[in-house]
Amino acid sequence: MASSEKHVVIIGGGFGGIAAARALKRAPVRVTMVDRRNHHLFQPLLYQVATAALNPSDIASPIRRILRRQRNASVILGEATSIDTAKKIVQLADGEVAYDYLIVAAGATHSYFGHEEWQGAAPGLKTLEDAVEIRRRVLVAYEAAEREIDADECATWMTFVIIGAGPTGVEMAGALAEISRRVLERDFRRIDPGRARIILIEAGPRVLPAMSAESSKSARRQLERLGVEVITDSPVTAVDDRGVTHGGIRTETRTVIWAAGVAASKLGASLGTELDRAGRVIVNQDLSVEGAESVFVIGDLASIKSDGKLVPGLSPAAMQEGRHAAKNIARIIRGEPTLPFCYWDKGTLATIGKAAAVGDLGRLHLSGLIAWLMWLFVHIFFLIGFRNRFIVIIEWAWIYIRNDRGARLITGDVEPLLERGEKPDARERMLSK
Ligand SMILES: Cc1cc2nc3c(=O)[nH]c(=O)nc-3n(C[C@H](O)[C@H](O)[C@H](O)COP(=O)(O)OP(=O)(O)OC[C@H]3O[C@@H](n4cnc5c(N)ncnc54)[C@H](O)[C@@H]3O)c2cc1C
Repeated sequence: MASSEKHVVIIGGGFGGIAAARALKRAPVRVTMVDRRNHHLFQPLLYQVATAALNPSDIASPIRRILRRQRNASVILGEATSIDTAKKIVQLADGEVAYDYLIVAAGATHSYFGHEEWQGAAPGLKTLEDAVEIRRRVLVAYEAAEREIDADECATWMTFVIIGAGPTGVEMAGALAEISRRVLERDFRRIDPGRARIILIEAGPRVLPAMSAESSKSARRQLERLGVEVITDSPVTAVDDRGVTHGGIRTETRTVIWAAGVAASKLGASLGTELDRAGRVIVNQDLSVEGAESVFVIGDLASIKSDGKLVPGLSPAAMQEGRHAAKNIARIIRGEPTLPFCYWDKGTLATIGKAAAVGDLGRLHLSGLIAWLMWLFVHIFFLIGFRNRFIVIIEWAWIYIRNDRGARLITGDVEPLLERGEKPDARERMLSK
């Protein structure tokens, strides 16, 4: 590799970063991808791991493997801690990397709206570890209910609360209802998992607020058909190990899932440029950073408008921005002016359960089986790696035909979960029968 070639560093091997790296395959540059994890994660299917339909390895692929045929790309496992745009250096937790051009694609994380103390009782869903932890809590709750002899305690274990009715909350609620009503009911003897309460709480007036009113109504109907209790206009004011307070009501539960807020990666702040209210970097129309034009910010970390509307935090937007930033870097190297980014909105789909989904495709609103088949096709198509696609098709076919979920494994220590928020005599009572 000629040393005169420009060095492009990409922070983050998510949807945006991988698309950018691939788009630079034939450019006369060296590409270095830095990620603190060794895998690219297909976040849209995380809820399937959290509800025991898929295994972690079905939805993740090593970044090194994804880029192994790209000769101009190399991968570094490391955490970027700050960016010095004057010296053109990315500071890592244990070193530094110099760049000529930088693409920052570090994504987003959960926001508890200033209530970080809720995190322990209400984990969010963003990483594979989060998904496995939620699966553990859900399955342990059924185990605890099975051995509980106090009816009120049993009901508390069999109540599941999901906070936030965006796509993640809706998908989680639907999948939890399905696993309770269709899968687990054959596994237990003393309890009837089909009677579990699945409660979806939303602060705003409707579910899926970013989708059309038709899709929102249809999603609510489909959720209620599955037995999900949907509560809107009910802001959460307290969360602890024994329950949730929302809209002045107290709901006793041991299992809460946080699907409400998103905050951009803190890395954006180190660029020293303007951020929006969610901490996203407000970028120029060509995705570069004001005052540091060799730096591009993309995906969930970027705040940009296209056709007067804010580009949404979705994987197609991140991929389009990744390809566009790569194209602009190639243009600068060729001495050409950069081009403004324009988002192509291909529509939005959200799934609720087996043969239940909604979709907004321009003015077309789909629901039920057809929306679900589209969702299925899109999610298989965009999964990276043949092995993953093949396995996911087989897993889904199995679930569809048999109503069975093979990944119902509880990993890790269950004692701390059983003890959470327990009344003093609870363990003895549970063990006494
Ligand atoms: C549960 C869930 C469900 C979703 N469902 C959908 C859906 O159905 N459809 C849809 O279109 N979108 C969906 N999204 C949104 C979509 O996943 C995001 O919009 C997309 O991942 C954004 O891509 P990105 O490249 O900006 O960030 P990400 O894909 O999040 O990638 C960020 C990468 O940066 C790395 N990173 C972060 N910080 C650092 C650091 N300091 N140093 C090094 N590496 C770092 C991370 O490890 C990660 O690999 C969902 C998101 C979640 C969480």
